[in-house]
Amino acid sequence: MGHLPRLVKGKSLGFQSLALRIFKKGGNLRAALRPEGESRYKIAMPIRALADIIINQIAAGEVIERPASVVKELVENALDAGAKRIEVATAGGGLNLIRVIDDGGGIPPEELPLAVARHCTSKLTSDIHDIRTLGFRGEALPSIGSVGRLTLRSRTPDADGGAEITVDGGKASAVKPVAANRGTTVEVRDLFFATPARLKFMKSERAEAAAITEVVKRIALAFPAVRFMLSGTDRTSTELPAVSADGDGLLRRLGQIIGKDFAENALPIDAEREGVFLTGYASIPSFTRGNALAQFAYVNGRPVRDKLIAGAIRGAYMDALPRDRHAVTALFISLDPALVDVNVHPAKADVRFRDPGLVRGLIVGAIRQALEGAGVRAATTGAAAMLQAFRVPEGPSRANGANDFTGRPFSGTERPRGGWSMELSPSRPLEDAFPPAANGFAEAQQVVFDIGSVVSADARAGTLEALSDLVGRPLGAARAQVHENYIVAQTEDSLVIVDQHAAHERLVYEALKDAIHSKPLPSQMLLMPEIVDLPEEDAEWLCAHAEFLARLGFGVERFGPGAICVRETPSMLGEVDIAALIRDLADEIADNDTANSLKKRIDHIAATMACHGSIRSGRRLKPEEMNALLRQMEATPGSGTCNHGRPTYIELKLADIERLFGRR
Ligand code: ADP
Ligand code: MG
Repeated sequence: MGHLPRLVKGKSLGFQSLALRIFKKGGNLRAALRPEGESRYKIAMPIRALADIIINQIAAGEVIERPASVVKELVENALDAGAKRIEVATAGGGLNLIRVIDDGGGIPPEELPLAVARHCTSKLTSDIHDIRTLGFRGEALPSIGSVGRLTLRSRTPDADGGAEITVDGGKASAVKPVAANRGTTVEVRDLFFATPARLKFMKSERAEAAAITEVVKRIALAFPAVRFMLSGTDRTSTELPAVSADGDGLLRRLGQIIGKDFAENALPIDAEREGVFLTGYASIPSFTRGNALAQFAYVNGRPVRDKLIAGAIRGAYMDALPRDRHAVTALFISLDPALVDVNVHPAKADVRFRDPGLVRGLIVGAIRQALEGAGVRAATTGAAAMLQAFRVPEGPSRANGANDFTGRPFSGTERPRGGWSMELSPSRPLEDAFPPAANGFAEAQQVVFDIGSVVSADARAGTLEALSDLVGRPLGAARAQVHENYIVAQTEDSLVIVDQHAAHERLVYEALKDAIHSKPLPSQMLLMPEIVDLPEEDAEWLCAHAEFLARLGFGVERFGPGAICVRETPSMLGEVDIAALIRDLADEIADNDTANSLKKRIDHIAATMACHGSIRSGRRLKPEEMNALLRQMEATPGSGTCNHGRPTYIELKLADIERLFGRR
């Protein structure tokens, strides 16, 4: 560190000594003020070039953020070398060891010192605008070598033997001959031993190991014809056998990575606009995840994390998905390399398109077209003007009765501006095209919210109460159920329409939260244990949380690689689509691992479970059931919105109805 400028501490200059110095410098104020080791802080050294090791460590700060970044760089190198088989092994979340073995073209012995030297690459020729390889900056290996212990062993196809070079904390060894298989082996030990500050930022071994898996999967999706193996002391092994390089192979690779059922729920995407090609798959709206981790995007084969693409996907599904659900997608964009800048950030995951609007339009258009082709209608917007007149429940002010009904929106969620909106409603006419995967009804065993048991005599439908009876009943009396999801009720001075699914979900959520926080939830044994196929990480993750899940009423155990066996489910959920619920829980747990307090996590999980356990739209309710739902809503704080912040009911004031009819 001797070359780094040092800050030195000195005394401040008092008035008297300043006067003395001005005198000494012959009255020259500037000369007197020039520091002579007496200013409070000063740079102690003249400008000079940084040593290579420092330059490399600075670069490493950007390129090598965590072990997964090393794996990404090494796997990219293997692919650039034409490997057909790539083996990744790790220990200690990659901090102790990362080993990547490939069967690619190798590096001749005399080039080994260059491979680990800064700005040396075999990939970029003269044109930065024509990048056709994953690497091009020539800084991954030297960066890695500056912060860890790197060994590079390689043998080219025609050579008799191999050669090896090591770089230890920035110091390269001489090249020595070794026995080696054709291809290259890169080994990185003790990552960040040379930069302890970075080491401190590492998450748990498990989290780092998971990040490595994520990186390998992300890259592997773009190279179905390459066989990937991932193993190590910090993980269960995963193998992705090579499949064909065509669309068929891609679908199989997607199955290996996203899960077998993705293939059945994916729509092929194939579109072109002005020389920009988009291919891949996007899930149908009923196949969603609780987070956006299963959205994979590639630009000319390079995995990217791009806001523009993520936004376009969101836009494409806007009318088809609730706001808190995420589609599963694998999108491949190919275009002339000159039309995209990949040199935005050293980690090369960001890209900048020459024409972002074109790319966005292409993605939105292609996905929408696929969805429409599959029979999904976009939400109607024509009724918007009239809907303006509909009111979303306001706030405490409208609690015009003596009970504790508040209709307040669920805290922490945003409320749609300008009233209720079609896109935000959980019950848009989506399910016509894609009925919920299974019988999501929670009927007989519904113990939390027993809609049949709370009927009060005066709330019975069919009895036309005197208007005075409606006073103090903000949601009034049920008059009808329409479209098998909407309860139409009459209050003293308005018409109320309740979304039964959203409302029930909220009620189940509140009850679940209460129950979980106080004691373990009762569970029911399944007659037939259900086997759920999952990505291996998710299976591992869930089994690691088996005890926690038991508290929620789930009995899960391992069922071989990539599967778990569910023996018990929480009885209050009734009959649910177990596979879908388990997958959502895996997302939920993965998303919140360690980051959130237990309470918050439980609340999230309760929300996820409530979503599965609620009366789906489509269930016909008896009049007394409808009224019971209304009364229960009035008694539950926060029931004015569902768990996702969408309104559970809307209200049209009589005065507004009259205005609509031109009576006022
Ligand atoms: P870049 O990939 O940007 O060129 P790197 O530092 O990652 O920079 O690698 C430097 C060079 O080392 C590469 O250009 C390539 O020639 C060689 N190299 C690295 N890894 C491999 C590998 N697995 N097989 C063959 N050559 C490799
Ligand atoms: Mg590289």
